[in-house]
Amino acid sequence: MGRHTTVTGVLFSFAVIVAVVTVMVLTALERVAENANTLDDERSRETTVGALKTFEDQLAATLDDYAAWDDAAANVYRPEGMAWTISNYGEMSANSSLFDMAVVIDDQKKTVMAYQDGSPMEKPVSGFFGPSLWLLLEEARAPGAGGKPQAIGFLKTERGIAAVGVALVREKSGALDVPSGQHRYLIFARHLDDAKVSALGTTYVLNGLRLVPADFAAAYSVEIADPAGAVLSKLVWISRSPGDIGYAQVRPMVIQALGLVGLFFIVLLIIGWLAGQRLKAEENRAREEALRDRLSGLFNRDGLGLAVDSFIAEARQTKRNVLLLYLDLDGFKEVNDSYGHGTGDQLIRAVAAGLDVLIPGGAVLARIGGDEFAIAFFSDAENAAALQLAEQILDFLAEPLEVGRRIVVVGASIGIAMSPLGSVDREELVRRADLAMYKAKEAGRARMTLYEPAMDADRAQRNALELDLRMAIESGDLTLAYQPLVDAATHEMNGVEALVRWNRPGHGPVSPEIFIPIAETSGLIESLGLFVLRKACETAKQWPELKISVNVSPGQFRNPAFTDYVRYVLKQTEIEASRLTLEITEGYMIQNPQRTRQSIERLKSLGVKVALDDFGSGFSSIGYLRQFGFDRIKIDRSLVTDITTDSRQREMLQATVALARALDIPVTAEGIETEEQAVGLRLFGCDCLQGYFFGKPMAADQINGLLQERRKIQPQRRFAG
Ligand code: C2E
Ligand code: MG
Ligand code: MG
Repeated sequence: MGRHTTVTGVLFSFAVIVAVVTVMVLTALERVAENANTLDDERSRETTVGALKTFEDQLAATLDDYAAWDDAAANVYRPEGMAWTISNYGEMSANSSLFDMAVVIDDQKKTVMAYQDGSPMEKPVSGFFGPSLWLLLEEARAPGAGGKPQAIGFLKTERGIAAVGVALVREKSGALDVPSGQHRYLIFARHLDDAKVSALGTTYVLNGLRLVPADFAAAYSVEIADPAGAVLSKLVWISRSPGDIGYAQVRPMVIQALGLVGLFFIVLLIIGWLAGQRLKAEENRAREEALRDRLSGLFNRDGLGLAVDSFIAEARQTKRNVLLLYLDLDGFKEVNDSYGHGTGDQLIRAVAAGLDVLIPGGAVLARIGGDEFAIAFFSDAENAAALQLAEQILDFLAEPLEVGRRIVVVGASIGIAMSPLGSVDREELVRRADLAMYKAKEAGRARMTLYEPAMDADRAQRNALELDLRMAIESGDLTLAYQPLVDAATHEMNGVEALVRWNRPGHGPVSPEIFIPIAETSGLIESLGLFVLRKACETAKQWPELKISVNVSPGQFRNPAFTDYVRYVLKQTEIEASRLTLEITEGYMIQNPQRTRQSIERLKSLGVKVALDDFGSGFSSIGYLRQFGFDRIKIDRSLVTDITTDSRQREMLQATVALARALDIPVTAEGIETEEQAVGLRLFGCDCLQGYFFGKPMAADQINGLLQERRKIQPQRRFAG
């Protein structure tokens, strides 16, 4: 739209510029044409003036010829000479191109002879010529110094306008022996009739030259005045206007040329515009692509942001609710790790396609992270629609998915948040959905959780805890407690399990069951685990008769560099590898059996032992045990607690221990609080026991104390294990 306006604007201003340039060029050309016209008319005027002068001069020359003539001087003054006068003057006026009238008058202005066109004139001469004739006569009578006794001028006669000359009749030499007062004058007239005027026009190339009355209005003309200065007539002509002709020829060329220039620029403009359009289209495509996730073809996080923004704006107008689902696949990392990224990518596409089928019309589906999806849609109802959708999604994901040639099972944790009537803005809505999803994940797999304000308080507490924990790790405020592990037969301590302790300033002791998971999700587990491992090994060096067990969380175990850490710590603390047992819980193992097996193998190649902790608390089957090559299993306290009261529990425990022993795997029982339990478990086949009955987790000094007491009693058994 804006683009079109600009283009129209540019085209319009361009058209204006071309028009203005055209007008300017044409105006300039017109000016040139006018000048040319003026110059030509000036020249025509000069030519006309020259033509008139020539007309007069010819008459003057003829008159001079006829009047200054010895024969004339001899005949005109004598009465017998009349015949000569008539024959040489009067009759010569017939068919002459030089003069059409010949008159002879005397000093008293009396007509001696008057001929017109070769015939005698009846009319009196003075009336025919008018009084201006006498002015010429005066002039001829009194010529200037050295001048001839002759005068020429234009007069208005009864026949029209004529050049008239008056000259004294005399000898060729100018001499005349006739006294003044008896002088005679020859008058020639040559009428400027239409034929002569047009002949002049032809001779002098003056188009349409003609005589017009004195009052005729014309831009260019030449006036014909009598000797008294009165304008008798005018000569006018038709302007050739060469400028106009040139202009008329050039004008279409100029217009064509400018038109071409205009066209050229319009074409340029159109090409530019098209290029601009293409660029814009490319830009749009790039922008569109920037909002898309390449792998799934869904919107990405940015695309979702824009969509949710517009949903919220619309919801405010239409008074509807915007619902946002955040969905995190459980176990995606494991699929990726065990089957490779190709399979992982296929899984993402399969999930995206499945979700696309489930979402309501008009909903926006986005992939906002490696294994995170989001769905935004409108709803008139409150959370019901979202809960229903979430349930459908969970059902869909609970089914095994066929990915390539493999069957994989993934679950999902779903968080739901709502912006009622668009009252919660995008940022906050996203935060809430994310938080709810996080809570769903925390609560266990395959769950959905609606956002509740109380979650914010939880989250804030958690954040504060995380911050404090980070500081505690950095400043070395964590300590280790050591819980004795005893021989089932002798009840003699042969090892200790290192358990981390944190006395949080202002809050008191925090259970590792609370802060270990937080350390896992906040990336603190690495440094925490390293601290525990090093500290435990360092401390255990002073207890050569004891083995040392250290707990390893799934987060540590997952790290491919973990084996290197262990090797490094062993080397640094110079403790024999065989004294160290690493306890891992089954959770990670089930998620990622292949990797677990590899990691265990690598650790065992260092010489350390690997034990399965909390056996019986989760899903692990005895089958795993052999597969993974554990050196020991530790039966979870929950299995131990009721064996003295619950016969079913007892039988289960008995069978479990028997199975492990059949696989040649030694068993430790943990959580023993009574002698009865201790006796029972030994009978069932456990070779190692742990619990408050033998000793609570305690400080290293206390372990030292116990060892010293024992050395006093049985110094010889110091190195027994
Ligand atoms: P766990 O490895 O199974 O450790 C045994 C837990 O049971 C300890 O709790 C111990 O105090 C408790 N316990 C031992 N005997 C008895 C008994 O007779 N009765 C009762 N009621 N409890 C008994 P704690 O120290 O709170 O540790 C809890 C869990 O936190 C541990 O379970 C372990 O999984 C984890 N943990 C502790 N320290 C570390 C550590 O340094 N690194 C890692 N990754 N995890 C640790
Ligand atoms: Mg343990
Ligand atoms: Mg345990």
